[in-house]
Amino acid sequence: MKKMIAVLLLLCLLLTGCGSGRTVKVDVSSDTLYVKAVENLPKDFILGMDVSSVLAEEESGVKYYNFAGEEQDLFRTLAENGVTHIRVRVWNHPYDAQGRGFGGGNNDIEKAVAIGRRATQAGLKLIVDFHYSDFWADPGKQMVPLAWKDMDIETKTEAVYDYTRDCLRQLKDAKVSVGMVQLGNETNGALCGEKTWFNIQFLMAAGSKAVREVFPKALVAVHFANPENAEAYASYASKLDYYKLDYDVFASSYYPYWHGTLDNLSSVLGTIAETYGKKVMVMETSYAYTDEDTDFFGNTIGAGGGVSKPCPYTVQGQANSVRSVVETVANTPGGIGVCYWEGAWISVGQNSWEENSAKWEQFGSGWASSYAAAYDPDDAGKWYGGSAVDNQAFFDATGHPLESLKLFGMLRSGNEVEVLPDAIDDTELVVDLNGVIELPETVNAVMTDNSRRAVPVTWDIDDAQLQQMYAGGPAKYDITGEAGGLKAHCYVSMVEYNFLSNPGFEDGTEAPWIVTDLGKTEQLYVEDKATDSLGGSWHMHFWSAAPDSVAFTLEQPVEGLRSGTYKYAISIMGGDCGETEIYAYVKLDGEIVGKAPMKITGYGSWDTGRVEGIEYTEGQTLSVGISVKCAGEGKGAWGKIDEAMLNSMG
Ligand code: CA
Repeated sequence: MKKMIAVLLLLCLLLTGCGSGRTVKVDVSSDTLYVKAVENLPKDFILGMDVSSVLAEEESGVKYYNFAGEEQDLFRTLAENGVTHIRVRVWNHPYDAQGRGFGGGNNDIEKAVAIGRRATQAGLKLIVDFHYSDFWADPGKQMVPLAWKDMDIETKTEAVYDYTRDCLRQLKDAKVSVGMVQLGNETNGALCGEKTWFNIQFLMAAGSKAVREVFPKALVAVHFANPENAEAYASYASKLDYYKLDYDVFASSYYPYWHGTLDNLSSVLGTIAETYGKKVMVMETSYAYTDEDTDFFGNTIGAGGGVSKPCPYTVQGQANSVRSVVETVANTPGGIGVCYWEGAWISVGQNSWEENSAKWEQFGSGWASSYAAAYDPDDAGKWYGGSAVDNQAFFDATGHPLESLKLFGMLRSGNEVEVLPDAIDDTELVVDLNGVIELPETVNAVMTDNSRRAVPVTWDIDDAQLQQMYAGGPAKYDITGEAGGLKAHCYVSMVEYNFLSNPGFEDGTEAPWIVTDLGKTEQLYVEDKATDSLGGSWHMHFWSAAPDSVAFTLEQPVEGLRSGTYKYAISIMGGDCGETEIYAYVKLDGEIVGKAPMKITGYGSWDTGRVEGIEYTEGQTLSVGISVKCAGEGKGAWGKIDEAMLNSMG
């Protein structure tokens, strides 16, 4: 009987790969998460997840759960939901002289081995991300490890080789299943304190050599950021080729907020794959499932705009963004995978900044601790704190997985549940102070398949509030409403509206201004020169050397006005003009109905002509303009025209 058990145990061990990992069955289903299957997804496509901060998170008391609501090993949960690889960053020595961690998980090779063991245990392969620095390395900084600070390039090259080999041996001794190794992190033209490709290539070659020796089956990757800069990427790839670096994978970060379109990403990576016969992948991507912060430390992505937002910040939007990146890479020549960045870096507590801060300092679970000042005083040493990406995790603030995590297990089969409204696009409305606030009757719902559909909206506003807006002068209002069961926003800007087009020539062209009676004016064109402009950087320039040769009018017809009272203004400055006859004017049905004389008095001395109280009735044609005649003196008459305005007076 004992023998039988022993044999069974042995069999079990053999079947589970002798401790080198067990395969977790991926079996996910969802009633709500919409996933369109990605066609042509290669069988061995890498679906990676960087969880470098996990140990520090757990030490800080964070618990992770499965979809049944039970506390469960994070790696197992990831594997059960279709993740295939775990990525981990490795810093040489992220500790100060007193042994206090710099934060960001305090990820040295010891941490990487511990994470690697657990990943392997869950049947996942490891992607090792050497930063060759004591702390964060990215396009902004590639600081040399303190211990290598004074090394010349030959000594540093040896150090990179020895260090890489020793680290990888530790992983090998721990029976960690290593699938890929990175030679630096986002190494846009710098690595380990070196800033010339001539030196960088020695360091990369040394790292590559060590990988080939210790893990001959692992892929060797280089990693860059900013694929929106196609020229830079082409240049990196050609330099690596020139220096004959031995590598397999050209990897890129792709954060949709900043990194250009997916078409561009595919074109940039596909070209490199085909030109140099390399594999390509997205090594880092992420997307916000909410704009709210949960750990009392501000996030990189919040409610504010200014970044590209291809999907709403919802759980479904997060899944849709990642799916589109996977689809893009899968359909790019040489595309082998996508890795998500820090999918489990959630809040270490729900109570207060003080409580969380103490944990970030003690366990390194924030992006940086105050101790990082010892190495990076200008950035980490100043702005240290918690997680800036807790709203981009696949787990909520209490460690429960989001429905979007199931995406990885559904990419092949799809999960085409009923398409429902998921978020409402914001509406922006610019209203003249004397105009009418007409809130839209429908708004765009972003559906769970990321398509858009017009849905009726009910705005939460009454007459009294509207009257306040009319009376409140220039201001911006956030009107909320309900559409398709979701919250809608209409941002109303009450402004003194300028009814002119291209009023300050900022379009860089003349249109729709029309020049007439040009006479012998030698120069009349729009000019890009901020110092000579009243507003913006463009203005209309004129010049003539001969006496009495400056003569022209600049006129703009205006359409779509409501009946009412209007005012018009335009400004001029110049010099050497001698006797002048200059005036701003307004025409109704071709007849000048208002005129304002203007003067040219010298460089930088702008004179504004104003015509007010123009009574306009719908059906009439209205044009505004400026008429300029200069006799000139000395070097010739010259001037600049800028900042025309046509506003309503009620
Ligand atoms: Ca945060």
